[in-house]
Amino acid sequence: DRRPVIAGNWKMFKTVHEAEDYAVKFLDEVKDVTDIDIVLCAPFTALSALKNELEESIVHLGAQNMAWADQGAYTGEISAQMLLDVACTYVILGHSERREMFGETDEEIARKVQQALRAGLTPILCCGENLSLREEGKAVERVQGQVTRALAGLSADELSRIIIAYEPIWAIGTGKTASSKDAQEMCASIRATLTERMGMAAEKVPILYGGSVKAENIAELMTEPDVDGALVGGASLDPLQFAKLIKNAG
Ligand code: 13P
Repeated sequence: DRRPVIAGNWKMFKTVHEAEDYAVKFLDEVKDVTDIDIVLCAPFTALSALKNELEESIVHLGAQNMAWADQGAYTGEISAQMLLDVACTYVILGHSERREMFGETDEEIARKVQQALRAGLTPILCCGENLSLREEGKAVERVQGQVTRALAGLSADELSRIIIAYEPIWAIGTGKTASSKDAQEMCASIRATLTERMGMAAEKVPILYGGSVKAENIAELMTEPDVDGALVGGASLDPLQFAKLIKNAG
């Protein structure tokens, strides 16, 4: 039995003030939710303020990226220790926007996953194919390859501390959700890949779907046996809308 996880990815939206305002409204809406792990993945600049707003609440804090190094001359980078310092417990790694626009490779993502696990952060590892790969029938091959390369070298114990998010690129911000059947198929295939590495413990790993998830379509996605929650972009930006989505997921 896996506990559902609903994570909001704000991407490059919200100032400190906007984040604080959001937190107050959002907490008021979700304070009675007990059966879902809720995560807000905010921009680095808003994390410290959110730490204060969300302290001792049921809402967990996450970042959207992280460096693979401990510390040092890495201009513009943010370390795992810095995230822990602002009460982050989750970090999104390998989002398709970072892969496509900022050139992140599977090898760098693997180093980041290892770094996050060493620090005690929960990585939300993203994977997903683009439209042409899907049309060529190569989606499963691509996603299995991404997952295998990002998780290379991890022990079964380390693997048991990760979350995977399947986000088909053609469904991100397009209003085109994968059908719940397509989402289920890929999430099941990711779980099969994990089972080869870690046996039955793969049954415990949360696998999320992301791509145009809204309050209106979350319930159907959640009925699928291998879809354990969602990584939500646009629909997480409004506190009332995101709270509604979370309630519809339960
Ligand atoms: P949308 O929910 O806006 O499609 O974004 C999905 C996503 O990329 C979450 O990480």
